[in-house]
Amino acid sequence: MLDPFQREIDYLRLSVTDRCNLRCLYCMPAAGVKKKRHEDILPLETLEKIARTAVESGIRKIRLTGGEPLVRRGVLELISALGRLKSLGLRDLAMTTNGVLLASQAKDLKQAGLDRVNVSLDSLDAGKFRKITRQGELTDVLAGIRAAQAAGLTPVKINVVLLGGFNDEEIGDFVDLTRGEDLEVRFIELMPLGGSAQAPGGFLPATEVLRRCPRLTALPQPEHASVARLYRVPGGRGRVGLISPLSKHFCWQCDRIRLTPDGKLKSCLHTEEELDFRDYGETRIAEFLRDGVRGKPARHHMDEADFRPVARKMHEIGG
Ligand code: SAM
Ligand code: SF4
Repeated sequence: MLDPFQREIDYLRLSVTDRCNLRCLYCMPAAGVKKKRHEDILPLETLEKIARTAVESGIRKIRLTGGEPLVRRGVLELISALGRLKSLGLRDLAMTTNGVLLASQAKDLKQAGLDRVNVSLDSLDAGKFRKITRQGELTDVLAGIRAAQAAGLTPVKINVVLLGGFNDEEIGDFVDLTRGEDLEVRFIELMPLGGSAQAPGGFLPATEVLRRCPRLTALPQPEHASVARLYRVPGGRGRVGLISPLSKHFCWQCDRIRLTPDGKLKSCLHTEEELDFRDYGETRIAEFLRDGVRGKPARHHMDEADFRPVARKMHEIGG
């Protein structure tokens, strides 16, 4: 699907729940979220139908996200169903997860048809990890990463939100993870979204990673659009990715649309504009997707003085 700015939109991020088993300071209120009514959340069968039509319309990559996708009941069955879309042209089926439940589920996820995972991890220090997630155990996530590697959900990518004054001292430790292992550590700039003011650290540009690790050398960009600029430590097996939505935005190569758990299509993370699936229904899915792509803005305006963050919090959209 081509958007009005001639960008090929071939990536759908499906948020399957707004609920989560962690409470990251910058993402989720301490009390969690008010449980939505059953009928307000799209059923798995509907998600499958939307994904099928999306693939028939040219979507080639699907990522499950949330909230925490692994807390949605039936997610394995959904993955099996989405895995079957590979015969229709789907090339990549991935998930972004906090990793807490990965150790017990990695094998089943792989068997069901999941290709790979991104695991979010903002600190390698158990105390700081608990502080930022309000309730998480670092050992669970590390075990999840190991299980994902063992199950072949590779390459495993680790998402680290850069938080000045909170985890910047750990940049070198995260980079070191890529020396001996085929891992990709991706540093992401903190975006102003509902909730981000609660972050325990301030905004840091992704270039801070290069300042602290001057031996990182740039790798050729993969042919296919990637939001991360890639680097490697000399002799390292893995990669380091820098994702800089603010300091060096990549909107001109944005290839994605997002569906929230309550059926709202968002063509940009930073726009209040949403299309409601219920205005279309199951007989008009292709039109729903086309209208979403047609409404995709040229770029976000986060870097402008009068920018107002969208009201939805990240756990309600899916990152
Ligand atoms: N629960 C899963 C997880 O944490 O990986 C998936 C959903 S989470 C909303 C997706 C990603 O968004 C996580 O990597 C999280 O760190 C990131 N995120 C949340 N709020 C953010 C913000 N304000 N700026 C940048 N990244 C953010
Ligand atoms: Fe949950 Fe992910 Fe948000 Fe953390 S970032 S609260 S793990 S949805």
